[in-house]
Amino acid sequence: MKIIFATQNKGKAAEVKSIFAGTKFEIFSLYDLGNNIDVEESGDTFRENAFLKAKAVFEIYKVPVVADDSGLMIDQLNGRPGVYSARYAGENCTYLDNNLKVMDELRSLSEPHTAKFLSYAVYFDGKNEIEAVGELPGRIIMELRGQNGFGYDPIFIPDGFEQTISEMEFDLKNKISHRAASFNQLKSKLESL
Ligand code: IMP
Repeated sequence: MKIIFATQNKGKAAEVKSIFAGTKFEIFSLYDLGNNIDVEESGDTFRENAFLKAKAVFEIYKVPVVADDSGLMIDQLNGRPGVYSARYAGENCTYLDNNLKVMDELRSLSEPHTAKFLSYAVYFDGKNEIEAVGELPGRIIMELRGQNGFGYDPIFIPDGFEQTISEMEFDLKNKISHRAASFNQLKSKLESL
């Protein structure tokens, strides 16, 4: 069964394809389809934005779609960047801009800078709406470490580890991450649909 993953993000696409590998579900990202649609994430919640993306892409292709809206929530910043994680340092900013902004905002505050990643994963096929949430607790450090992953991975150390996510192998991230948690649940729900 073909499912479109409503993302342009190659990092996310690789993670979700790996989660669905070996199942009856075959995942195609928008990038694979050569589609550069950018759905405006105008919702106030991760859930709303995830369904906005899934439904906009379903309207184009009329095939089942999965989407996730995800982000970083830092306790000392009252949950920011939250739903603004992708564009925290402004429109068209880079991952580095976002990481520098977060470190700047935390510099005068005492450690540990506890935080969590959250992923809200959804499925929509024109009729069924399925959803699942995953979280990864950890802390922000005040330097960039590692080369792997994307987004805030170089400044985030998950609880129980000493490495940032960027210092981890892909398979380890994909075992412990918020997106692994949400999409593994979503996968189980889809298998019993
Ligand atoms: P989205 O594509 O609107 O869900 O934006 C998610 C944003 O949150 C990304 O651009 C990253 O900045 C951040 N983010 C989400 N998941 C991760 C992750 O696994 N690692 C690092 N940053 C992430």
